Amino acid sequence: AKERGKGRHTVYDARLEQDQAADAQLGAELRRALDNGDFTLVYQPIVSLPDGKWTSLETLIRWKHPDRGFIGPDIFIPIAERTGLIVPLGDWILRTALAQAAEWQDRFGAGAPGEIGVNVSARQLREPGFAADVRAALADTGFDPEKLVVEVTETAVFDGGIALDTLQNLVTLGVRIALDDFGTGHSSLGLLRTCPADILKVDKSFVDGIGGRSEEAVIATAMIQITNGLHLQAIAEGVETAEQADTLFRLGYRYAQGYHFSRPLSPEQVHAQLEAASVL
Ligand code: C2E
Ligand code: CA
Ligand code: CA
Ligand code: CA
Repeated sequence: AKERGKGRHTVYDARLEQDQAADAQLGAELRRALDNGDFTLVYQPIVSLPDGKWTSLETLIRWKHPDRGFIGPDIFIPIAERTGLIVPLGDWILRTALAQAAEWQDRFGAGAPGEIGVNVSARQLREPGFAADVRAALADTGFDPEKLVVEVTETAVFDGGIALDTLQNLVTLGVRIALDDFGTGHSSLGLLRTCPADILKVDKSFVDGIGGRSEEAVIATAMIQITNGLHLQAIAEGVETAEQADTLFRLGYRYAQGYHFSRPLSPEQVHAQLEAASVL
């Protein structure tokens, strides 16, 4: 048994090393992509129900790979986290999104969506200087801190004390906190007592099965009661059909996001939509 255990251990080590080599290679590619300007940001509207008006835009990153075309964040963000590149990359994302949002605000005033959301990973929250970096980015772009929403997952926050301290420092700046993919982590409800969240983004998996008397509908109803009771804002994620939007509204949801309302848009597309709305 000892022999077998030892053998397995060796295989495991080999696989780990291989993963680390693959990570290192992709990590280097990501580093080059950041230097070469191969990342781009798209923005997905969050809308009010039932009118579908834009209230906010969530920033989502894309990688324009020179040979492989567009690569989605689900593939490269985890690698950027493991290699630490997420720290400079995250700073670029934040600064680019804030500069972009400030530009739309200058150009369209009240016609621009009030808020901009930026996803922040666990690794960033554990960086001791993160809140200071956010403060500097806000100062450099002149963007109103109260209009920035930092989206974090339950898992990232649950990771420990530093993450909570960071969130508290962000709140002190006036920044608002959204708990992303809410309901899919391990400590959703308990976290509401310790995490200074303003917004719960109810995960798509609950929205998907919301029709009829499903378990998801029961959970989605409970979640809206919790958010109302705690004076938080609920946003339903991944709304793909008019039927889902209607059901959510009936359950008490007032904010939603998803392909039914809009796909993520390039800055040019956002600009064109705001322009069209401003001449109505
Ligand atoms: P997320 O923050 O939960 O973002 C929502 C994801 O769902 C986005 O995928 C969005 O395009 C997609 N989505 C929106 N509406 C619908 C819908 O109606 N149906 C379906 N099927 N999907 C919808 P995306 O852009 O591929 O991002 C995936 C994840 O990658 C994000 O999940 C987030 O965790 C991470 N991510 C994206 N951008 C960033 C970033 O700038 N920084 C960090 N740290 N993570 C990011
Ligand atoms: Ca998000
Ligand atoms: Ca989400
Ligand atoms: Ca997600």
